[in-house]
Amino acid sequence: MFIMKTTINVSFCAIHCIQRTPHSDLIEAGASTFASAGKKPLSLLAISLCFSIIGAGVALGEGAFYGDPPSDTHPWAIHDLNRPQPPRVEPGTPSTQELSGKPPSDAIILFDGTPKSIAKWESVKEPRQPAPWKVENGVLQVVPGSGDIGTLEAFGDCQFHIEWSAPTGVNGSSQARSNSGVFFAGGVEVQILDNYDNPTSPDGFAGSVYGVNPPHANPLHPPGQWQVYDIIFRRPVFKDGKMLDGGRLTVTVNGVVVQDSTPLEGGGGHKSRSKDRPFPETGPLKLQDHGNPIRFRNIWYRTLPKRAVEGGDIGAMDPAAATSKKLEIANNIRLDAETKQGDERLLRLMESLCYATDAATIQTIETDLAKWTKAAKDTPPNEMEAKKESIMKMFRAVRYLTKFGFYPDAGDCKPVLMQIVLSNGWDPR
Ligand code: MG
Repeated sequence: MFIMKTTINVSFCAIHCIQRTPHSDLIEAGASTFASAGKKPLSLLAISLCFSIIGAGVALGEGAFYGDPPSDTHPWAIHDLNRPQPPRVEPGTPSTQELSGKPPSDAIILFDGTPKSIAKWESVKEPRQPAPWKVENGVLQVVPGSGDIGTLEAFGDCQFHIEWSAPTGVNGSSQARSNSGVFFAGGVEVQILDNYDNPTSPDGFAGSVYGVNPPHANPLHPPGQWQVYDIIFRRPVFKDGKMLDGGRLTVTVNGVVVQDSTPLEGGGGHKSRSKDRPFPETGPLKLQDHGNPIRFRNIWYRTLPKRAVEGGDIGAMDPAAATSKKLEIANNIRLDAETKQGDERLLRLMESLCYATDAATIQTIETDLAKWTKAAKDTPPNEMEAKKESIMKMFRAVRYLTKFGFYPDAGDCKPVLMQIVLSNGWDPR
């Protein structure tokens, strides 16, 4: 039985406290407190509520459905446990000058030092031939004049790793000193050049997006030492002739960022200023023979997930795609609910409304929640504490759905559950 009392002064004090907090849902919890305080003196309840709210924070996973709900462009709630967990990847190890490092576990190996890994490359001249470069002592070396080589495998957006070394002994200057390059599908080059002590055109410098953007710095080791490039390549994306993303390159040279999401501006080139253009979705990656015996080791890549503009679904997306994803999530939760029973089933069905509404689901919830709430209300006082966890979960779920308008017709359930919570002196958070 709920004892209904109101003390205006205490209510005013407590609501004033509560309204200074960012937890707007607690305003209504607090306001209702003073209409139904049965077991604690109102002043003590108001004070304890003020203090508890000031330091408030709901621990992860404790609250029903938890953070801000899905929006027009975000199919998941904040801290949504329905969101897929990141896949496990065993990290690699860094290289030293003496030894190649180990790639991460999901890397696609393009050259690991073994003679057989050269079979993953071919000459790009027609007709295609096995790659004419040399493999010796675990190192791949350009045979000057034999031509560029490309991967047999076609790929697009990627995290790419390569290590290279220029020959010792100064030979040539500017662009003629130990020149090579990495060409991604579509033809944009990240320049390889011995610029340790070799001025040249900045947009043709080691680590430049060739013909587009100089590197931010020159962190090269002297020739003869291994240089490490890590590159994130995002190709341009066009749809119906309209550019949705011009593409970008991020490059680190020996661990120093030298390109920071640099726009491709069409991919650059020799002497010509390029213009934005579509790139193929995938293609071979090429290494350049510029007439210098550059050495390579430890070449690998990892495929990157799609961006929102190309149908990716790991972050913000356009409203139509987000709606479709929310429907998929809701259906998956409803399927999961069918594998459960009792409270778990009802809570999962309620949770599905956060993503997409459904008449049959609402009807089931209405019926089951009304029965559930009546049973909670009829619980004998001496059994109430044993049911606290179950009641709190359902209370939070109802509050979440009504607060964000996913289930505004919760009927009597919300005030009844609120009364149970407050009259037992339970923390409404
Ligand atoms: Mg080059």
